[in-house]
Amino acid sequence: MRVLEVASEAVPFAKTGGLADVVGALPEALTDLGCEVSLVIPAYREAFAKDPSIEPTGIEFEVPIGTRKQLARILRSRRPGSRADVYLVANEELYDRPTLYGGTRDYADNAERFILLSRAALELACRLDRSWDIVHCHDWQTGLVPAYQKLVYGSHPALAAARTVMTIHNMAYQGLFWHWDMLLTGLDWKHFTWEQMEFYGQLNLLKTGIVFADAISTVSPTYAREIQSSPGGCGLEGLLASRSDVLTGIVNGIDTVAWDPAADPHIPRPYRFEDVHAGKYAARVALAARLGHAAPDARPLVAFVGRLVEQKGVELVLEILGRMAGEGRAHFVILGTGSDEYELLLQRAAVTFPGTVDVVIGFDEGLAHLVQAAADITLVPSLFEPCGLTQLYAQRYGSIPVVRATGGLVDTVVDTNPDTLRDGTATGFLFDGFEAAGLARALDRAIHAHADKPLWNDLVRRAMRQDWSWQTSGRDYLRLFERTRMASCAR
Ligand code: ADP
Repeated sequence: MRVLEVASEAVPFAKTGGLADVVGALPEALTDLGCEVSLVIPAYREAFAKDPSIEPTGIEFEVPIGTRKQLARILRSRRPGSRADVYLVANEELYDRPTLYGGTRDYADNAERFILLSRAALELACRLDRSWDIVHCHDWQTGLVPAYQKLVYGSHPALAAARTVMTIHNMAYQGLFWHWDMLLTGLDWKHFTWEQMEFYGQLNLLKTGIVFADAISTVSPTYAREIQSSPGGCGLEGLLASRSDVLTGIVNGIDTVAWDPAADPHIPRPYRFEDVHAGKYAARVALAARLGHAAPDARPLVAFVGRLVEQKGVELVLEILGRMAGEGRAHFVILGTGSDEYELLLQRAAVTFPGTVDVVIGFDEGLAHLVQAAADITLVPSLFEPCGLTQLYAQRYGSIPVVRATGGLVDTVVDTNPDTLRDGTATGFLFDGFEAAGLARALDRAIHAHADKPLWNDLVRRAMRQDWSWQTSGRDYLRLFERTRMASCAR
């Protein structure tokens, strides 16, 4: 199967979030399964620093954007070890910038930037001397790809038989632009209707992708259900429900090489389940030193690693810190960066409860590994969570997740109760409502369980043995691609 992946970011070239991890790993996983995969991403400034092997291909062409034409120069990565073909669309005016999407404000020309990516990807697909079975695009930045495939490139031999799959990584970001940007897409105004590209007077690129794609996926089965009603669908629930026959959820895999407690360069003593206690103790000694404590704490270590934004449930964490830190039954370590207000409130909590609450503000990949290795319990109390990776890393590192029952968290953590203990499936603790009391009760249950050594060992063993590899997720994507092709053949 020949698969063209189109996305706005991919590890190792450029990353702002989990999307980049997925787009970095999936092409390799699909290649392992026998697919021929090409990936197209923008040639951002940071890509050249991350991958010095990037070189010109000699392919270049102009892409119409409204009344202007933008030059797309196609580069290619020659990174050793990469088996998928990675192409980068270079255009200095649009992509040679300090950040991917803008700072506190999005770049004013983001519509133009991602129209170029979407159209250039298909234009390139037509020039690569092969025909494609699947065009797989991700999030609003590539929402125009299914529309261009159907309306502009549908009769080109390279793409005529291709089917498009749109994967939604987060419904909260839809790519909304003022209606005049419709002119830049080059598509007919007749598509600017509430049934296709328009959304309350604006151009909606994610909606466009959902409307025109042959199949839609999102990053967990539960999130696939949640987005078909309010508030999960963020206004597109009706449309998504109307396409439920082609909407599916596939849980993300994780990079099991980068996140491997048995071979992690960021932790002092790599470990497996058999020596998890020694490994965790060594990590706690190192973490204590890093946090400026003389010795590690004997209390259960409760961690939170994530963006400090409303989605991640920071509010609930702040509330339980006020209640539980005073009792002193656990040591809390929080690593994150995000809104100024949350950063300030967390830092205040650290001052109020010295030695019980430690807060590190910043993005520090190595420290995230050390914290997961040291932790007994990891909190993921999200308001909504399309898939979530933190709870997967936590399990692999033997830290038991306490999570809110939403989205991918439901699909990847099994609550500990008499039934799941009996059938041997428990891996964590879940709570329902988005309330601090619920989080506090679930954390309480976890702290109690931690005191019961045989029970805790059982949980840790099961959590560490879960398979979150890309092999499993890759197979699910391949099945989706096969289904999508079969469905259109049958039509
Ligand atoms: P999202 O993509 O919504 O931010 P995920 O759970 O899917 O949430 O992925 C977040 C990833 O980013 C995890 O790997 C987490 O460890 C990492 N991360 C988040 N904040 C930080 C931070 N401050 N320092 C290091 N890693 C972080």
